Amino acid sequence: MQKHKTKFIFVTGGVASSLGKGIISASLARLLLSRGYKTTIQKLDPYINIDPGTLNPYEHGECYVTEDGAETDLDLGHYERFTNVPTSQANNVTTGRIYQSVIEKERRGDYLGSTVQVIPHVTDEIKRRVRLLAEGNNFDVIITEIGGTVGDIESLPYIEAVRQLTWEMGDDVMVIHLTYVPYLAAAGELKTKPTQHSVKTMLEQGLQPDIIVCRTEHPISKGIRAKVALFCNVRPECVIESRDAKNIYEVPLMMQKEGLDKQVLKILKLPYGGRPDLTNWRSFLRKLEHPRTEVQIALVGKYVELKDAYKSILEAFLQAGAVNLCKVRVKMVQSEHLTQADVAEKLAGCRGILVAPGFGNRGIEGKLVAIEYARRNRVPFLGICLGMQCSVIEFARNVLGWKGANSTEMDAKTKYPVIHIMDNQKNIRNMGGTMRLGAYPCTLENTSRLRSVYGRKDISERHRHRYEFNNLYLKDFEKAGMKVAGTNKGVSDSGKPVTRVEAVEIPAHPFFVGVQYHPEYKSTVENPHPLFVAFVKAAMEFDAGQPKAAPEVAEKKKKTASKSTKSQARKR
Ligand code: GLN
Repeated sequence: MQKHKTKFIFVTGGVASSLGKGIISASLARLLLSRGYKTTIQKLDPYINIDPGTLNPYEHGECYVTEDGAETDLDLGHYERFTNVPTSQANNVTTGRIYQSVIEKERRGDYLGSTVQVIPHVTDEIKRRVRLLAEGNNFDVIITEIGGTVGDIESLPYIEAVRQLTWEMGDDVMVIHLTYVPYLAAAGELKTKPTQHSVKTMLEQGLQPDIIVCRTEHPISKGIRAKVALFCNVRPECVIESRDAKNIYEVPLMMQKEGLDKQVLKILKLPYGGRPDLTNWRSFLRKLEHPRTEVQIALVGKYVELKDAYKSILEAFLQAGAVNLCKVRVKMVQSEHLTQADVAEKLAGCRGILVAPGFGNRGIEGKLVAIEYARRNRVPFLGICLGMQCSVIEFARNVLGWKGANSTEMDAKTKYPVIHIMDNQKNIRNMGGTMRLGAYPCTLENTSRLRSVYGRKDISERHRHRYEFNNLYLKDFEKAGMKVAGTNKGVSDSGKPVTRVEAVEIPAHPFFVGVQYHPEYKSTVENPHPLFVAFVKAAMEFDAGQPKAAPEVAEKKKKTASKSTKSQARKR
């Protein structure tokens, strides 16, 4: 593809939130990439948190972690899943981060005595963050999604910054506005007035959209298109219908059919290039929509009422299901209410159990109950981050017989701190952006299951945690049958080399894997994650009639940690 100046597409939203700006942006990026344009997507979030890392998942759903360790909005997960291109810190900017930079500059004296104001200083910083992504990256197109809805007080500086960029860069900038066209059942009509009003609000703020994408539950007639075009000042072919899709991965094809990419290229004066190659995408969709079998897998966690809290895990299951031609039905199980008395009933019919990542004490005992059930009944198990840590705690308590074994996150005074705070986390006081974050290399043991799952020894996976496996107990675990499957060679605060346990397995179990890292962040349509693919396969092969694990042998023989371990533990 011939090189051009970077072009900028801004995506705004009107009428209502949750219309799927992220999916539209990701779908457009997919189409442009398939035409050979080097494209990336950025999200500007108008809240004052520096990043979503400190946010409760109930607020905005999952916190997505990039390769470079940025804690970001979950839309970045969609961007990566659709484009297969890694994002970075520069792809997610919040109002908090903008103000932080402006205030730091003011303190440094960079503004040379001027009064620091929203316009031009805040808007300049917003524009700088947009342009920053273009610098040195050689992108043909940068799509920038503006969070929130036009008309919100918080969005004003962003809309103003986009207005200025349109004025400064002319044809290199365009705006797509996503609105909602509701259907009034009583009148039997689709209503365009809310769309007209939201475009009017944009016009008041000096911004004219070039394309209007109408989210709707019913087809948009020619007449409705003409009406939106007339009142919103766009060409009729620039009114794009976005109907509810069976699944989000259909949206790129729907947008292609509507001609979104063609209109975009026309407006940006870019050549159409070749026909977009969507062969792999279509073949993924075919597999997804024509499964030969289905399997139910339990997702045990504490945020189950809110599916967005585990977005990447659910998408990874969907992708892994397509590879296996199997529909994965995920049963959300609230760990807070799971007990020995009802675990068999609640997990009945589940042929795989995933214990989710998380923080804090709530729901921990239920997670341990689910893990014990998976281990004893030989149900395929995958523990992610806190889920892995819980599998270590469960093994310590029920196989090694160490009563009260715990993570020091949950019980600072536990006699058996099998999971403890990482050395370089001990003196950290600030909560934001201070965990062990982003990609780290991991070496897999030659004989491990993970080694064959990945098909290679050296992997790199993303992290988000402060606690880790306590190496003091490593020998006891290995002797009793829980093996270390992957490690990272790191350096402690005092500069000493440390080996961090990144993955554990029980080789005697058909599939029992715990990973300290988050495989779900790296699963994309083009590259479904091998661990999820293998886990779904194990669930498909699970035979509920298999003999159960024998009652713990170790439990009877071994009620305490080895002597050396105990004396060392006391010293800590
Ligand atoms: N709370 C645990 C830790 O900080 C696990 C974190 C997680 O599951 N992401 O280590």
